[in-house]
Amino acid sequence: MSPASTNNRPFPRLGVLAIDPYVPGKSGAPGAGKIYKLSSNETPLGASPLAIDAFSKLASKLELYPDGSVARLRGAIGKRFGLDPDRIVCGNGSDDLLHLLSLAYVGPGDEGIFTTHGFLVYKIAILTAGGTPVVAPEKNLTADVDAILACVTPRTKIVYLANPNNPTGTYMPFEEVKRLHASLPKNVILVLDAAYAEYVRRNDYAEGIELAATNENVVMTRTFSKIFGLANLRLGWMYAPPHICDAINRVRGPFNVNGAALEAGIAAVEDIAHVEAAIDHNEKWLPWLMNELAALGLEVTPSVANFVLVHFSKASGVSAADADSFLTARGIIVRAVGAYGLPECLRITVGTEEANRIVVEGLRAYVQEARRG
Ligand SMILES: *Cc1c(COP(=O)(O)O)cnc(C)c1O
Repeated sequence: MSPASTNNRPFPRLGVLAIDPYVPGKSGAPGAGKIYKLSSNETPLGASPLAIDAFSKLASKLELYPDGSVARLRGAIGKRFGLDPDRIVCGNGSDDLLHLLSLAYVGPGDEGIFTTHGFLVYKIAILTAGGTPVVAPEKNLTADVDAILACVTPRTKIVYLANPNNPTGTYMPFEEVKRLHASLPKNVILVLDAAYAEYVRRNDYAEGIELAATNENVVMTRTFSKIFGLANLRLGWMYAPPHICDAINRVRGPFNVNGAALEAGIAAVEDIAHVEAAIDHNEKWLPWLMNELAALGLEVTPSVANFVLVHFSKASGVSAADADSFLTARGIIVRAVGAYGLPECLRITVGTEEANRIVVEGLRAYVQEARRG
């Protein structure tokens, strides 16, 4: 007898137990000495010193509720990006906002679309809201407009697109994003998740501000977890038409952004030099990492973000699982991406110079050992 048919204990509503919990990247390597964590796309530069300072100052005010409207933070974000603060909603990480969007717009019988190797949070958000996830196929590990449009039905309520996408590192040019939007029904929300926008150095890329500013059904989400280095504080924001902000403000927690995130976020968003330094670092080490890994005979998906997807294949004698264990034993933590339908790949974050050199040397040693048989 399934627990659902009993009344002797509480039971989650239909669908909850069908959700596979999100499993974050590993963060430890028991027994190894120094740890190089390249598994969660965190910045090797750390947080801005100004943000650390602002965070520390909050220690003497822990008993006070934060400002639930996060007005100063929205003002600082608006100023930095040239946006109307009234069209910004902040969240406990952008994951919070990605969930709230489904919660507010998707219900039982409705469908939400994302792509084959899209960010896993989308599926969880749609299922949590009681909706039905619909997976659009990709082309060359890249989201494909026509495939997404082919999935649209009268039940579609939301489309999530990470641009660039995690874990593939690929992106959709802005002309294609506009073509996608132009063909979507006007009652379907297009969520452009631009978590890695700052890292992209491509003339044909745009994060989505223009589309969200001029349409009733486009939302852009951003995070402080990646280039701003505040992953531990949980802070994200979205830029959306006023009617969508209004809906999300009704369903969000009244204090969904804590005071430490609020103060550190303001300092971080104002520290332009720190972000520039992180961009420079990535511009140097992303191509280096891609080239070095390719030189080992490994296939690397061209990335525009701060991580690379590396392909292994049992046919050529190298396996992602073995490489992962080999690296972990040496204190190098990378991300297995089997849950993303990429069991023979590993995702490696661009780290410090030391970490980048060590992961390449680690993989060189692994490949030599594996090919020797
Ligand atoms: C890391 C990441 C985020 C950020 O999530 P937070 O909740 O803001 O830490 C959002 N989307 C994608 C695709 C990501 O990789």
